[in-house]
Amino acid sequence: MAELSGAELIRSSAAELASLLADRVVSAVEVTQAHLDRIAEVDGDATAGLHAFLHLDSDGALATARDVDTARVAGKDVHPLAGVPIAVKDVVATRGMPTTCGSAILRGWVPPYDATLVTRLRAARLPILGKTNMDEFAMGSSTEHSAYGATRNPWDLARIPGGSGGGSAAAVASFEAPLAIGTDTGGSIRQPAAVTGTVGVKPTYGGVSRYGLVALASSLDQAGPCTRTVLDAALLHQLIGGHDPLDSTSLAGPAPDVVAAARAGAGGDLTGVRVGLVRELGGSGHADGYDPEVLARFTESVAHLTAAGAEIVEVECPHFEYALAAYYLILPSEASSNLARFDAMRYGLRVGDGDPAATAERVMSATRAAGFGAEVKRRIILGTYALSAGYYEAFYGSAQKVRTLVQRDFAAAFEVADVLVSPTAPTPAFRLGEKLSDPMAMYLNDVATIPANLAGVPGMSLPSGLAGGLPAGIQILAPAQADERLYRVGAALEARLLAQWGGPLLAAMRAVPSVHASPEKVTA
Ligand code: GLN
Repeated sequence: MAELSGAELIRSSAAELASLLADRVVSAVEVTQAHLDRIAEVDGDATAGLHAFLHLDSDGALATARDVDTARVAGKDVHPLAGVPIAVKDVVATRGMPTTCGSAILRGWVPPYDATLVTRLRAARLPILGKTNMDEFAMGSSTEHSAYGATRNPWDLARIPGGSGGGSAAAVASFEAPLAIGTDTGGSIRQPAAVTGTVGVKPTYGGVSRYGLVALASSLDQAGPCTRTVLDAALLHQLIGGHDPLDSTSLAGPAPDVVAAARAGAGGDLTGVRVGLVRELGGSGHADGYDPEVLARFTESVAHLTAAGAEIVEVECPHFEYALAAYYLILPSEASSNLARFDAMRYGLRVGDGDPAATAERVMSATRAAGFGAEVKRRIILGTYALSAGYYEAFYGSAQKVRTLVQRDFAAAFEVADVLVSPTAPTPAFRLGEKLSDPMAMYLNDVATIPANLAGVPGMSLPSGLAGGLPAGIQILAPAQADERLYRVGAALEARLLAQWGGPLLAAMRAVPSVHASPEKVTA
């Protein structure tokens, strides 16, 4: 029945696919198969191709798609996104499907239960294509810390796709999936979005259930959508968000109506909206360590916001300067406690059983030595040290004080501005290997995204254009539980940016030339 080619289907947004499916122009099986074909064409493995996926579930995805088609033919009511395929970051527990968190210690672990957000995806019948690659236990900004090999950026296979959720971002950017799930503890949804030319949203802390996510830092972790458009992010956010009795930190009430906000924003009018430029995050158009072209794209975006009727104000958040340092005490502290559960007794890897002198302690220690990578070990040691009796106040205690000061900076800024904006990441995608041996250089990629996690406020990254031929991102931040504002402002800005960049940006995205084995395949 389809008059649309696979190449056209994979380039459609989730909203477009949803309406094609509702009108029965295409079947869910055709849509799902087109994405599986794309994955087969470009994903490759650790040695070549994108390597966005660690695990594929073609049979499961097609079974869900067949189910949706049967329901639609029978005239049954289905969720608007039913039949639209999705990829899920490998930090999210999926019943019957491996969940490794990018770590060797969880190699082959198959969870006996679904995370709440997966339960919601399954209930709405989105075919789950598979699990995406990530930095081990979500620690990193490049996906190079995956025990299974790095993911490559579809814009340039010699570059990183961001991290820790580089797999989800690369899958969406390369048309392997219209939708993906990410998690953001310090920027792992937003920074990969920025460097792959996609949209990523970290909802308000507690806005999407954490039940079934492998915990990194429980007070910072938040799951959210990875997509190519602001409206698609809203559709996915609304599906996975809302109260979950299984997560004690889950916010009360249903998900905010972010879809209505995105649709309202698409009209492009921002009259009366106060937009704050955060001076400490490159918001005044210059800052140390920021790429000049990234800053230039940011300044143009601000001009678009002005043209849309927004009022621009400059804000100062003096304690943001210390956010990165505080984060790298709080995160390792929480991670060192969360990762203690990998004890060789309950999950995955177990090393050293054969040793006649084996004790529980020796097996645990041999398993952790073999199963954890260098970055994970570094953070466990840092966290254990920061929490130790003699240093607790000096390190963890001070970091918590800084966290409060960052929260106060946000509160003051939101007195004078409805949303705040900054570049999402200081530079476009860097080369694979470039920062791998320098943890500080790696950590600095999240300098603009971390404050939001410390304060629990929501943030969105969307493409601001190209910087040296590579995507750059702009970040929008809103007060806690005002996620709708991200979507209203994001959709308005997206509409104007597409009018400016539509030609070159869309052409570049549609070609994403380096992921193709041969250029002919693009038009096939
Ligand atoms: N890159 C940051 C880190 O390494 C953020 C990670 C994340 O958001 N999961 O901690």
